Amino acid sequence: MKVRLSDILEEGLTVTEVLDPVRVRLDTADLKFTAPVGVTATFQQQDDTVWVEVGVAGETQRICARCLEGFGRPYDNRFTLDYSVEGKLDLDITDDVRQEILLSYPVRFLCREDCRGLCPQCGTNLNERSCTHASS
Ligand SMILES: [Zn+2]
Ligand SMILES: [Zn+2]
Repeated sequence: MKVRLSDILEEGLTVTEVLDPVRVRLDTADLKFTAPVGVTATFQQQDDTVWVEVGVAGETQRICARCLEGFGRPYDNRFTLDYSVEGKLDLDITDDVRQEILLSYPVRFLCREDCRGLCPQCGTNLNERSCTHASS
């Protein structure tokens, strides 16, 4: 996502782009985007500083850290980037957008807060049924 600084007018510049999650490498071992990712960026410039308000929206498939089941979840994120653009003609924010998205992932995903996980002894998914191994 690259803009020419001369295109940022007084009222700002809004750019919408669709990122290919594979090409931008947004997927991790337990999160995959299942469709192209929509990014809207609004650029504002004051003197040598540019602020970019970024909104990201997509659909993901995640793997629960407790029960190991896959589950779908929408992805929504908003953040602001700022740059010093002294002496520059253009600005490419793709790498920073990617970093912000990667940093927004939690350490682990849960299909639901009270996911009961797998029985450590027999591997039964305790969300679906119980097993004979008593769990406290
Ligand atoms: Zn789970
Ligand atoms: Zn069991």
